[in-house]
Amino acid sequence: MAEKRPQRQPSMSCGTAINYKIIRSDRRTLAIEITKALEVLVRAPKRATDEEIRLAVEKHAAWIEKNLEVRKQRNEARTAYELTDSEIGELTALAKKVIPPKVEHYARLMGVKPASVKITSAQSRFGSCSGKNGLCFSYILMRFPEEAIDYVVVHELAHIKHHNHSKSFYTLVGKYMPDYKAREKLLKQFFT
Ligand SMILES: [Zn+2]
Repeated sequence: MAEKRPQRQPSMSCGTAINYKIIRSDRRTLAIEITKALEVLVRAPKRATDEEIRLAVEKHAAWIEKNLEVRKQRNEARTAYELTDSEIGELTALAKKVIPPKVEHYARLMGVKPASVKITSAQSRFGSCSGKNGLCFSYILMRFPEEAIDYVVVHELAHIKHHNHSKSFYTLVGKYMPDYKAREKLLKQFFT
């Protein structure tokens, strides 16, 4: 089953717009989260109206701003502590050389075709696959062993067939990479 497309709506608090995504589901209460990617996520019951959600976001605006800042500082600290600008530049150049051939290799093997392949400076995730099958990979992958990089490539390519983390998704990953769990562990040590 495809995931519901979250809606984005701006809200105002003291003149600053808060962008947030709404995910409606079979839940009874409303919850606001800040993701690692610095997104404000509102988990709401199906019956909640947009207006109710907007009011809740406004009511918690101070909490949201504060936690966005905390999360942002944490992300920056991690980057600043570990890498200089020139190191980031080198890793990005390296990623642009290393990753596309890997994508090509595994895409052929798996019989899938990504719409595009980009290298990003994402700190909060290693890779992503858009709804239109555009793949993105973070330069940060270049700090990981090759087994881990290959796993992210196969993982994102598998999302072209399954845009979720269902059992079928992992069955597909496992078909082309039977030891994917061990490889996944190499990555998890970094993002805790
Ligand atoms: Zn995934």
